[in-house]
Amino acid sequence: MNIFLYTIIFIIGSLFGSFFTLAVYRIPKKQDIIHTHSYCPNCNHKLGILDLFPIISYIFLGGKCRYCKEKIRPRYFILEILSGTLFVIFAFLLGIRFETLSLIKIIDFSFIALYLTFIILIAGIDKENRKIEKGVSIYGIIISIMYMTYLCIVDQFSIYRYVIYLVFYIIILVLDTITLKRFAKNSYLIGLLLMIITMVIFTNELIVILGIILTFLGIAIYLLITKLKALRKKQVKSDAQITKKMSMAFYLGASNIIILIYVLVDTIIFN
Ligand SMILES: [Zn+2]
Repeated sequence: MNIFLYTIIFIIGSLFGSFFTLAVYRIPKKQDIIHTHSYCPNCNHKLGILDLFPIISYIFLGGKCRYCKEKIRPRYFILEILSGTLFVIFAFLLGIRFETLSLIKIIDFSFIALYLTFIILIAGIDKENRKIEKGVSIYGIIISIMYMTYLCIVDQFSIYRYVIYLVFYIIILVLDTITLKRFAKNSYLIGLLLMIITMVIFTNELIVILGIILTFLGIAIYLLITKLKALRKKQVKSDAQITKKMSMAFYLGASNIIILIYVLVDTIIFN
């Protein structure tokens, strides 16, 4: 029975994955992500229901558009599998089993799904465009307020901790409105700060700090490799020149998910 349950969770995850690829492509272009039909980015042909099955359509179409035969980027296929797998991993780690399925567990898992959506959208858009979309940040704030409200109902003692995070959100948003006109470049930094608060609310302080350390380690290694490559070509760039183009939100998001999985695995082993 559990195999059946996890298959369904994998399918739901891959459907989310196919939404992610569409949203990462459309949100920065200010296109509608819900009402507009999916279309081929090459020939603009509307996609039919047979073209829209995650993973399966890609395999049956041989990785090509049915209408213009243009190759579909394997990124879509990879993100669908990755997203399905992530959903299964989190379902397993949260203890979702057929025999013990409860409403609380379903709600917990739904929040994880909403949170994964936030991280993947913010990281994906940043990787593609080196930009943090304000719409995605706002989505993060909305789901964290929903999550905090839920936690306050389930566990009333933690209310003060959440009030502090709400105040942080408000301070940053006020700062953003004040400085927006004068320093447009700061919007990336503001986006990162909002992202960090959302991550703290959904995971916790320790996981976020470990994630930031992992991100810095990653950046240090990346800088080293880039410099070694540049030395060979004799075009040395400064650290600032290299980091300016780095997608920080992408690395932060990826580290956060890795540490979160690590911590969940760790608690299961030691219980
Ligand atoms: Zn096409």
